[in-house]
Amino acid sequence: MARTTPPEQIRNIGLMAHIDAGKTTTTERILFLTGSNPTIDWVAQERGITLTSAATTCLWRDTRIHIIDTPGHVDFTAEVERSLRVLDGVVAVFCAVGGVESQSETVWRQADRYEVPRIAIVNKMDRAGADFDAVCRQMVDRLAARPLPIQMPIGSGESFCGFIDLVTLQAYEWRDAAELHPIRTPEELADTASRGRERLLEALCEIDDELMGSYLAGELTGENQVSDPQTTQRIHQVLRRGTIGLSFTPVLCGSAFRNRGIEPLLNAVVDYLPSPLDMPAVEGANPLAAVGAVDGTLSRMPADAEPFSALVFKVTTDPVVGSLAFIRVYSGSLSRGDEVYNPARGKSASVGRLLQLHADGQEELGRVGAGDIAVVVGLGLAATGDTICDPETPIVLEAMQFPEPVIRLVLEARTALDQEKLDATLARLSREDPTFKVQVDRVSGQTVIAGMGELHLEVLVDRLRREFEVSAIVGEPQVAYRETILGEASADARDRDAYVRLRVAPSDDTQEMVFRSETVGGAIPRESISAIRAGIQESMQGGLLADFPMNNIDVVLEDGSSRGADASDVAFKKAASIAFRDACHKAGIVLLEPVMKLEIVVPEDYVGDVIGNLNERRGRIQGVDTRAGLQVLDARAPMAEMFGYATALRSFSQGRGNYSMHFSHYDPVPRAVGDDVVARVAGVAGNG
Ligand code: GDP
Ligand code: MG
Repeated sequence: MARTTPPEQIRNIGLMAHIDAGKTTTTERILFLTGSNPTIDWVAQERGITLTSAATTCLWRDTRIHIIDTPGHVDFTAEVERSLRVLDGVVAVFCAVGGVESQSETVWRQADRYEVPRIAIVNKMDRAGADFDAVCRQMVDRLAARPLPIQMPIGSGESFCGFIDLVTLQAYEWRDAAELHPIRTPEELADTASRGRERLLEALCEIDDELMGSYLAGELTGENQVSDPQTTQRIHQVLRRGTIGLSFTPVLCGSAFRNRGIEPLLNAVVDYLPSPLDMPAVEGANPLAAVGAVDGTLSRMPADAEPFSALVFKVTTDPVVGSLAFIRVYSGSLSRGDEVYNPARGKSASVGRLLQLHADGQEELGRVGAGDIAVVVGLGLAATGDTICDPETPIVLEAMQFPEPVIRLVLEARTALDQEKLDATLARLSREDPTFKVQVDRVSGQTVIAGMGELHLEVLVDRLRREFEVSAIVGEPQVAYRETILGEASADARDRDAYVRLRVAPSDDTQEMVFRSETVGGAIPRESISAIRAGIQESMQGGLLADFPMNNIDVVLEDGSSRGADASDVAFKKAASIAFRDACHKAGIVLLEPVMKLEIVVPEDYVGDVIGNLNERRGRIQGVDTRAGLQVLDARAPMAEMFGYATALRSFSQGRGNYSMHFSHYDPVPRAVGDDVVARVAGVAGNG
């Protein structure tokens, strides 16, 4: 069966913006213009914040554009990270009045980190105070970006009525129903426009010697050359190469609300943003390497002829069709009925249905290929972040990096029946959202959920109640502490016929336990090594000081054997668990706490109070900056001290202060504070 779109005609994009810059409006207008009827609210909106990352699809100039939704709120940066992994290009939406705000900075930096090519649109040009050039300057100052205007707006605010295309120097005007008409360039703008074109050409010449030659020979600038289609095509090609190579960010102008600037934006998406073929081969690990059998990194080209590999970037539950997995195919192709393997779950599943979601409904597909985005029905227990692949040649694509959960709270079901429903619902929610963790406290047996901030957990508890009608008693939010080891140590243990000796050492990897076997020959069978690994993993889930999860630990299996007949896996697991705990105690255990990065924006008069208050909260100021007449403080503070900060800041800045906060890193808890925490946890467990 033929695939629907060849990869060079695919664009996987996301729109990113500060809240209220116009992301939703722009997306709606794109869907409207491309003929998808956006009557269905495809973006799940909660509390005015777009929370869930999904994908929708539209067609422009024979190009299939998959729009992957990216949320704007900082508490949900993990969702942004997740979408950055699967999209190839980004449209950054800025407000022509508000400009570049702090959340845009956060998201821009993430896009820098993932080296995602971007184009930008300065939206809301119709608003009073709109200033296209100021926004471009802010992109330089605040984002260290290299904006390259490819349009020059005609008018601003009420008088915003068109733009001059700086590639062709052709002016356009919107008339009724937002139709675009070519017009003569207004005389008073002609000079500025040709200077804008010069600047554009100069930037392009920096990355293209041939273009530079033509430019110096005067072949690009004469009256006839400007309108020459071949010149235009060459400029577009270099613009595309520079955008994909991250040399600059083309900038357009518009007013989504008035349907202005959407067509040129779509053209720019097709012309400048990368197709999956422009992306490098994707790398992954051989899942068999983990047990020490084989090693090696695998790589897959974005081609249909390669073995199939795809990343599950979102799992949601549809009331009608059940569990839906959004996948990004990196290599190979997938047809309905195919068998796929999920290395993380160690299970295969057969693909029930393949869908593409349009704004006005879904389309059944027979087959998807490299670069495609699709929805798979019937993937069983696949969770967000899982790889699915060809069962014959398994691969685990590089895991997505998610911030650590910093806050946890206890949920208590009222009845056994409620508990069952609670467990099932939480399992489902955590498959959808990898930053949301469900644990069972080993000591008290209570259900604990952990997330990235007070708002994150609040929204989840809200969903439990409203969407799933689960009733539970909700505890107070608490800090998600962790435990780790201070040094290196070895220990051994025996359970029945199984003997295990292992070594633990501190590691930098916060996400996964690093486990390696140094046993030689077939001293222990492979399945038993898996059992040993499982025993260690289980011990790490509840720590040794106060039952917080253990992290950043390297474990090496030094030796192992079974006496007489093969010892059972249960025995190996038990022995591993005892040896691990023993080794950790010898190495020394310490409590870790999440430290948050804060950006606090206040008028000058309140800076003293803010700093004084932060000192009381064990906070540290890293820097002070001025932005739009306000002071911007960059600070770090332990999560434990930051509960209710919103209210506190409001009260001592008379409502003028603002802040954003997200996870920075884990730090050891100061001794005195740590003893307190451990005593408190022990006290609770003792009472329970
Ligand atoms: P989002 O938070 O980025 O998704 O922003 P929305 O698309 O929800 O827009 C926020 C508000 O700005 C809404 O009231 C929109 O109607 C308004 N808005 C969006 N685009 C424009 C525009 O181009 N001009 C004007 N004047 N308002 C706009
Ligand atoms: Mg929105």
